[in-house]
Amino acid sequence: MCVFCKIINNEIPSYTIYEDEYVKCFLDISQATKGHTLIVPKKHLQDVFALEEPFTSAVLNAAVKVSNLLKEKLGVTNINLLNNSGSLAGQTVMHFHLHVLPRYGNDEIDFHQVEHEPDFAKLDELYKKISS
Ligand code: 5GP
Ligand code: ZN
Repeated sequence: MCVFCKIINNEIPSYTIYEDEYVKCFLDISQATKGHTLIVPKKHLQDVFALEEPFTSAVLNAAVKVSNLLKEKLGVTNINLLNNSGSLAGQTVMHFHLHVLPRYGNDEIDFHQVEHEPDFAKLDELYKKISS
C-alpha cells in the first residue's frame, strides 16, 4: 500500500486540516513554504491521467477550501496549485495529489521560463495536432 493510502487509512499519522468523503488534506511533511498542503483523493488513482469523478471535482473544491483556510489562519494571499504527474515531472509519490503552495515573495521559487518571441508556425502545428 502506498504512503498516502496509509495516511488515508490512518495507519500513519498526518496533520490533516480538511477532510470529506472523497479527499484528505494534510500538511506536506517537507514544508516548501509555510502552510504547504497536499490534497489527496481517498482512492488510489496514480496521476492526472487516472483521475476520475467524483474525485476530480472534490480535489479542486478542497483546494479552494484549504486556500481560504490558509488565508484566514495564516494571512496567505498568494498560492500556487501544482500537480506533478509522472516521474519526469517530479512525481515521487505515485498517488495523485495537488500541492497547495503558499507564496511569500522571498521564497526563491520560480516557475517562469524566459520568454522568447512566440513561434506561431509551431503553435499552429501543435494546435492542429491537438484539436484534430
Ligand atoms: P511529489 O514530488 O510526488 O509531487 O510530492 C510528494 C510530496 O509528498 C513531497 O512534497 C513530500 O514531502 C510529501 N510526502 C512524502 N511522504 C510523506 C509523508 O509520509 N507525509 C506527508 N505529510 N507528506 C509526505
Ligand atoms: Zn495510494
